[in-house]
Parts: sequence; C-alpha cells; structure tokens
Amino acid sequence: MSSNITNKALQIPPFIVMEVLERARVLEKQGISIVHMEVGEPDFNTPECVIRAGCMALKEGKTHYTHSQGILPLRETICEDYKKRYGVLFDPDQVIVTSGTSPALLMIFASMLDRDDEIIMTNPYYPCYANMVQFLGGKPRLIPVSPGENFHLTPEKIKPVLSGKTKAIIINSPENPTGMCMAPMIMEEIANLGVPVISDEIYHGIRYEGNDHSILEFNPSAFVVNGFSKRYAMTGWRLGYLIAPKDWIEPIRKIQQNFFISASDFAQWAGLTALKEAQEDVERMVRTYRERRDYLYPALRELGFDILRPPEGAFYLFANCQKFSNNAYEFAFNILEHAHVGITPGIDFGSMGEGYVRFSYANSLENIKEGVTRIRSYLEGQGIR
Ligand code: PMP
Repeated sequence: MSSNITNKALQIPPFIVMEVLERARVLEKQGISIVHMEVGEPDFNTPECVIRAGCMALKEGKTHYTHSQGILPLRETICEDYKKRYGVLFDPDQVIVTSGTSPALLMIFASMLDRDDEIIMTNPYYPCYANMVQFLGGKPRLIPVSPGENFHLTPEKIKPVLSGKTKAIIINSPENPTGMCMAPMIMEEIANLGVPVISDEIYHGIRYEGNDHSILEFNPSAFVVNGFSKRYAMTGWRLGYLIAPKDWIEPIRKIQQNFFISASDFAQWAGLTALKEAQEDVERMVRTYRERRDYLYPALRELGFDILRPPEGAFYLFANCQKFSNNAYEFAFNILEHAHVGITPGIDFGSMGEGYVRFSYANSLENIKEGVTRIRSYLEGQGIR
C-alpha cells in the first residue's frame, strides 16, 4: 500500500533527463527518429583490451565476492595511476573499490552526515549530490554560481556559509552539467579552508584545455571519488572507487560490507587493464569528443544560444536558451516533440539551471549535425530565430 512507503522514498526527485529519454523512446516506438543529446554516457564501446580482460577474468572464475575494499592489484594500480598523473602518494588501504562512483558518493555522505548536517555544493549541481544528501537526512547547502565564474565555487563564496553544521564541500571538475574546469589555484584555496573536501574526479581524462588536477595534490586528507564509466566508456560495468583518509576507511568499509559486499569481481580485473593499457583508446575518444565540441559550440551560438565559453572537459555544453523561451523545461520538451532532438532541461541540475539546457555531445558528429539542423528548422518555423 502506498501509504506505507516512506516519505524519503516518495520525495526523492526523479531524473528529468530520464523523463526526456522515456518520452523519446515512446516517439521512437511510433517510428520517429530521435537525435539523442540528453544522455550523459559515452557513445563508445568499452576499449577492446578491457573487454578481453573482462572475458578472460570470467573464464578464469573471477566470479566471486572479493575483499570488501576491492582486489589488491586494482587498488595498487589506482595508487600508481594517481602517482603518475598527479604525483600524489597514498596507500592501497586508503582505496575502496565500489560498484560505480555513485555508491562511493553515497557511502562518503553516509559516513559524514547526521541529521541536518550540511554539504556545500554549487547550484547548478550534479543532481545525485543533493538527492543523496537529502535522502540521508542531511541538507545540501547550495551556492548559486554563474557562467562568469565558470560555474565554480570560490573560497569567497564558501566562507560566509560555513557553520557548525558544515561537514564537507563537494567539487566536480571537469563538471557535469557545464563542462567547466576549476583553476588549480582555486582548488588549492578550497582544499585549505579547514573543511573536508570531496572531489568528484569522474571526468578526469576527458579534457580539452589545461590539465586535470586532483584535490590530493593540495590536501592529502581530502576525499576523492572516481570511476571507470566516463574515461573508459564503462558505464555498464559499474565500477568506481573512493580514496579517503585512513581513519575513515574502517567505517566506510563497514557500510560497503552491509550495503554492497564488494564490487564485481571480473569488472575489477577489467578495470585494472583499463588503467594499465587503455590510454591510447582514451586519447582516441577524447580527440573525437573534441572534434564534436569544436563543431557544436559555434553552431549553437550561431543559432542564438548564449554560451560564454567553450567547455574545457567532460562532454556537455550548458547553453542559455532564454532568448527562445522563459521556461527551459517546456523548451526542452518542445524541442523533443517538434524537432525530435533530446536535450536536458537545466532545472534537472537545480534552480540556477532555469533558463538553460544541457547538450551532451556523446553522439556521433553526423548525428550532432543532424540535431543542430533540426533545431534550426524548429526555431525558424516558430519565428524565434
Ligand atoms: N558524478 C558525476 C558528476 C556524474 O556525472 C556521474 C554519472 N552521470 C556520476 C558521478 C556517477 O557515475 P557512475 O556511478 O557511473 O560511476
């Protein structure tokens, strides 16, 4: 009976992007072709070497529970990867391998939050941050950010909202939904405010301008979440990890044991190969994303979308559509119904996303060009371009 369902289950917001996708699937069933620019997952297959390693692991019987923290060779390889990329050192005991970045986030939040405790984050934000915090009884402390600030936090904006309730600040660079990256100097200042920082580094490696920096370069006691979904096109493998200070590992490991037991055995072996052997594949994918970005950014501006600067990483473009509509939700659904292009209303990412839509360029250049042509015809047909 629905009256027995908890308020927190009833109140957790849906992903609007999934509503767009579900409506798109209904239209597709009616024989309509849809250009998908709403979905936030790589359109590439997992690199061949990783698939081979996964198949081999299955054949070798890597089909069991593993140590709840993950297999040691993978944790050691994660340490080597961070040392090579960022020059930072930590112990394999500080790593917990998870079934994606999402459980890593959930477990860190669960280990930090008592009732009404706060996590500071930007608005707009990746929706799961706020939804998970609320689900756990905490409060997302949202700080509005604008395109002029690259949609990122600064110490000046954080300081006035710090309180006894503040448990952490979460940052994400390259960022979903904006594709913007945080300047290393700002990262360093935030890392040293005296408040724990959680850095979501899932889009590291998908970068067009500048270099990625890990929060651990600036504060070895920070928390990192990362995963294989984006950089290695491995969304369906469900593999990620967290890095935490030593004294946090025992409590988080107990949460892992109770909620998830361990990450998938064979997926962990595949992930190890991804870190060791798939760099060329990553470079190939990033070259392709870059080509698409270089087409899409000027094309959308030419249509009349307001975008201050090109995204520096990830595969998203957050475009202001106020020239066309004062209701971006309605606008996105009109584009789907009449232009047959799926895009995500900015409101999915918080109240500051109103007036924006997110384009994902994890689709072929050919399809992206078709999407732009369809949107142009729609806008011209409406007389709003
Ligand atoms: N963080 C961000 C910013 C994301 O965009 C996503 C996926 N959309 C995740 C975390 C979760 O990814 P996964 O669970 O597939 O590792």
